Amino acid sequence: MKIDILTLFPEMVEHALCQSIIGRAQKKGILEFGFINIRDYSQDKHRRVDDYPYGGGNGMIMQPGPIYRAYKSVLDTAAVKPFVIYMSPQGKVLNQSLANQLSKNEHIVILCGHYEGIDERLIEEIVDLEVSIGDYVLTGGEIPALVLCDTVCRLVPGVLSCEESFADESHYSGLLEYPQYTRPLVFRGREVPDVLLSGHHANIEKWRLEQSIERTRKRRPDMLEKGREAADE
Ligand code: SAM
Repeated sequence: MKIDILTLFPEMVEHALCQSIIGRAQKKGILEFGFINIRDYSQDKHRRVDDYPYGGGNGMIMQPGPIYRAYKSVLDTAAVKPFVIYMSPQGKVLNQSLANQLSKNEHIVILCGHYEGIDERLIEEIVDLEVSIGDYVLTGGEIPALVLCDTVCRLVPGVLSCEESFADESHYSGLLEYPQYTRPLVFRGREVPDVLLSGHHANIEKWRLEQSIERTRKRRPDMLEKGREAADE
């Protein structure tokens, strides 16, 4: 999968995406990232990319021209038409199901806004989907873009090893994951549940499923409700 990130702060995203599991997947050639500085596509002698809002009001708006030219530079060398996402507090709220869908794309362009946002005409011209990471407002789209990249990239085949598989993790199956334990056997008087030491795989699976259901019921009853509704449809 290829992801190009259009941003005013490429270092902010590049550094984070070169670490750990996502960084290793890049070295293996499973993932490829491009970090495009929108400011490089300004035609202003001071490299300005924003201006005052028509109609007045607070803050500055990112101009459409530099972003469009940055996008065109990606498009001109793309093998397939990329799916373009604008990180926005007004977008579709990110969840596991949306991450699964997005992970099927061969090439994604992620646009990060800043200041008061982006000229609407640019959004109409190039954006396929606006995505929000939650109902709150951040100063820029870079942290949301990192959240999106991380959750989408870990679903791309080969990024996680078998041991790190995502299939039994929280949200993937509509449940929260069961509690996990590692050494030591006793920590400050708290013991690991006996069943996990039994070596009886069927019992361990049964216990884990029960724990998952109980945990979801207590912490996120809305998830169970959604699952029931989906089953009834
Ligand atoms: N004026 C915009 C509004 O009210 O909808 C908010 C602009 S926000 C201060 C600046 C940028 O941060 C946005 O263009 C967007 O890229 C990013 N951003 C802020 N909150 C976000 C969220 N919850 N999810 C995704 N991106 C967000």
